[in-house]
Amino acid sequence: MHLQHQYDGLIIGSGAAGLTLALRLPRDTRIAVLAKGPVKEGNTYYAQGGISAVLDHKDSIESHITDTMNAGVGLCDPQVVRFTVEHGPEAVQWLVDLGVPFTRRDGEKHQAEFHLTREGGHQHRRVIHAADSTGKALQTSLVDAVRARDNIDLFEQHIAVDLITDGPHGDPGRRCVGAYVLDRGVGRVEVFRARFTTLASGGASKVYLYTSNPDTSTGDGIAMAWRAGCRVANMEFNQFHPTCLYHPQAKSFLISEAVRGEGGKLLLPDGKPFMQRFDPRAELAPRDIVARAIDHEMKRHGYDHVLLDISHKPVDFIEKHFPTIYRRCLELGFDMAEQAIPVVPAAHYTCGGVPTDLNGRSDIDNLYVVGESACTGLHGANRMASNSLLECLVFAASAASDIAARLAETSMPPELPEWDESQVTDSDEEVVVSHNWDELRRFMWDYVGIVRTNKRLERALHRVQMLQQEIQDYYGNFRVTNDLLELRNLVQVAELIIRSAHLRKESRGLHYTLDYPQADDSKTASNTMLIPKKTTRNTTAADT
Ligand SMILES: Cc1cc2nc3c(=O)[nH]c(=O)nc-3n(C[C@H](O)[C@H](O)[C@H](O)COP(=O)(O)OP(=O)(O)OC[C@H]3O[C@@H](n4cnc5c(N)ncnc54)[C@H](O)[C@@H]3O)c2cc1C
Repeated sequence: MHLQHQYDGLIIGSGAAGLTLALRLPRDTRIAVLAKGPVKEGNTYYAQGGISAVLDHKDSIESHITDTMNAGVGLCDPQVVRFTVEHGPEAVQWLVDLGVPFTRRDGEKHQAEFHLTREGGHQHRRVIHAADSTGKALQTSLVDAVRARDNIDLFEQHIAVDLITDGPHGDPGRRCVGAYVLDRGVGRVEVFRARFTTLASGGASKVYLYTSNPDTSTGDGIAMAWRAGCRVANMEFNQFHPTCLYHPQAKSFLISEAVRGEGGKLLLPDGKPFMQRFDPRAELAPRDIVARAIDHEMKRHGYDHVLLDISHKPVDFIEKHFPTIYRRCLELGFDMAEQAIPVVPAAHYTCGGVPTDLNGRSDIDNLYVVGESACTGLHGANRMASNSLLECLVFAASAASDIAARLAETSMPPELPEWDESQVTDSDEEVVVSHNWDELRRFMWDYVGIVRTNKRLERALHRVQMLQQEIQDYYGNFRVTNDLLELRNLVQVAELIIRSAHLRKESRGLHYTLDYPQADDSKTASNTMLIPKKTTRNTTAADT
């Protein structure tokens, strides 16, 4: 007999979105929070810049709205943008009350005020931060607060396999009733039964060879929601950060844009500058233009990386402005004060995801989606810096209120079918999984990366379909493991990205294709919406 857990709320993910939701729900609600690895591991922990909100009297709600809409190039939902921005100050105050150690202004006179930075796309200083490691401070405070609550159980090393619903796809009354979850410690799939389930499982940037994201970003929530019958939107909009350190041991270390902001120059490996050829603003051009220029030079010459040089600045300047980056580079053998460092662009943020309303509700009753897994309509075709943590906080709070209001009327689902392992054995060919991981991430980088063409997308679709077939066979025959589950989700998400990119016959925001290099302004810009096929089955153990 296997374990069957039972909770009011099941939250899949322990980043800013999942933990905020857990803490915002009423204290008499029984909540399970899952983390597929250690509780702190996820994008939130690595955020450097901060959280945007209107916190300065010189700033205004209207200005933050305008900046967000401009970044999103015609695809932001104005109602969602207003909702998010208006709730920003309260969301930040909640974190201040929780004790997040945000940086304060210098000097005795200003010590009571928080220091705000200004980032690309923002007309004002509105980014509250904790030095250059905001995510670490945020995640640590949230985890401490969750651990202090006796109504929240934290399950580390537990990876959700699939959602469980009580009816076939397309059935309007169908509810989400929980999830199958692999306990990685014992290698057993358990049932989590819940009145409400929330996907807060982060983005999907790990689908690309180079990424600034940690290993957790494998799009699990997006893939699970799709398999359960939710629509998926705007998956073609992947944000690429121009500069990640190129080093085998630092597979996802971000070199902040502030390095270019403070005079860092981009050079080819032979020492020649190149940005001026692409944009008169050179290194200070917007993120997507810089990423595209680097990609162009790397592909044209066959380089593995380009260089970023700030060695003309004094060492104490570099140490003061970039303490974390400077230290990490030194550990890896690069002294930024003496030499240029090797960098590559890297997949950074997933703008698309599972469409939700203002309360985080998805297409399936009792299933909520918050954070980077969701597509709320805030970012449109491009995310403005520091708006993503804001989105996590605001939507987690609204989802919490909505769930709290519905708890009394929502009954606990009945006992659910156990996971069926009677037809599977242990794999004796793990090499297939690791090989397919590498293949997928490389062709997504080469064919569906920063610059796309119809031909490259067709090639990628062909390959992804072959991989899907292979992985499905493997999944059907062998006992599930963490790597296999992540690969299955990544391949699913890759297919959704390729199909979405194929449908957009224009270049807009983060989607750039040589076949349609301009935005199509002849009609109103619209979201890309993929709709899953209807099935006649429930998503239960029978599907595994
Ligand atoms: C290097 C870097 C810098 C950034 N800087 C900023 C910034 O300055 N400002 C800003 O606004 N944004 C920034 N971002 C983006 C921002 O950090 C993320 O969008 C945000 O943290 C996402 O939070 P989340 O809670 O949705 O997901 P995450 O924080 O990624 O958490 C995902 C959680 O889901 C869990 N999980 C995933 N799949 C499963 C599964 N199948 N089963 C169980 N658990 C699962 C993981 O274990 C993890 O706990 C940055 C991102 C990166 C990578």
